[in-house]
Amino acid sequence: MIYLDNNATTQIDPIVLDAMLPFLREEYGNPSSAYSFGKRAAKAIDRARQQVAALLNCQPTEIIFTSCGTESDNSAIQSALQMDPDRKHLITSKVEHSAIIKHADYLARRGYEVTFLEVDSEGMIDVDELQDAIRDDTAIVSLMWANNETGVLFPIQEIAEICGSRGTLLHTDAVQAVGKIPIDLSQTPINFLSMSGHKIHAPKGVGALYVDRKTRFKPYLIGGGQENKKRGGTENTASLVGCGKAAEIAAQTIAMEDTEVRAFRDRLETGLLERLSSVQVNGHKTKRLPNTTNLAIDGIDSEGLLLMLDQRGICCSAGSACTAGSLEASHVLRAMGFSNDRARGSLRFSFGRFNTSEDVTRALEIVPAAVQRMRSMSRGVLVS
Ligand SMILES: *Cc1c(COP(=O)(O)O)cnc(C)c1O
Repeated sequence: MIYLDNNATTQIDPIVLDAMLPFLREEYGNPSSAYSFGKRAAKAIDRARQQVAALLNCQPTEIIFTSCGTESDNSAIQSALQMDPDRKHLITSKVEHSAIIKHADYLARRGYEVTFLEVDSEGMIDVDELQDAIRDDTAIVSLMWANNETGVLFPIQEIAEICGSRGTLLHTDAVQAVGKIPIDLSQTPINFLSMSGHKIHAPKGVGALYVDRKTRFKPYLIGGGQENKKRGGTENTASLVGCGKAAEIAAQTIAMEDTEVRAFRDRLETGLLERLSSVQVNGHKTKRLPNTTNLAIDGIDSEGLLLMLDQRGICCSAGSACTAGSLEASHVLRAMGFSNDRARGSLRFSFGRFNTSEDVTRALEIVPAAVQRMRSMSRGVLVS
């Protein structure tokens, strides 16, 4: 199998798994228990918190572990709304992950007003539009750092400065950015940042929310005093340990993202553009994650091509995993102004540090052949 879908999820790093196993076997103490068996688990969680904080360059007390990126996203927005109930306006964009968009839609049906910022044909927002959209009653601005479908990077530093100067809270969904591009929260005035374990070689079902120490926070899960009283629920010790270990490794390997991983992506992208006619890159050419390429391939149906590639051992994606299976064209590509046909003829390949040069070589043999086969099949249908 050639796994080119690292934006959907990643393999657990074997080192991460090894770090987790003791907490699934013998070290099952409750981190809140007063005896040493429990305290060992609590200590492991403290360490995981430090590892995540080190990756983001923030304080460990600013990290709340959650069950996933979606929970982190939901918690940040809910906290902002609960803390300042008079503010009934939110700003986000049309290309966010469903963890933000569906929540925003829900809030819009519940009496909130939501501004969905547009993007241009390269998937980029206009910061002047953000400036104009901010109001006195804007509770929070939520804009993603990196887009999961196209890899496009929003100018978060500039966005943070605008929100700061206007006194509006800023949340960023950085699930795709963390571990792929350097993030330094000491230099970027953000109130909330979401990340997810399974996008950085930790297991599924663990995430983290950064909450700036000066930002007031209201828990989303109300219960026990876990997570410095910021999230109720007995900690998933093994997964938290895994998330911490994955963050530590990400900090050590992040340079590879811009070198090896970028080289894999570029070789596949350039190779496909050379071998196939009528292929275009979706998304900004430079302001983009180093691991992602999203290609509009004229004359193909991405769901069909996906199945064909699956039979030949390649995993990639048409749209996002979260909307896969639905007949809707990608909301991200549609927001970029592309036709339904272009959106439905687009494929995403996303790399990670476990890919090999051989993966790219094989993909450059398999994908063009599959595309040509599909194109000739659909031409066959037309003439018959
Ligand atoms: C994967 C993803 C999420 C959701 O994270 P989960 O841990 O799967 O809930 C949110 N935002 C973006 C941009 C993502 O890519």
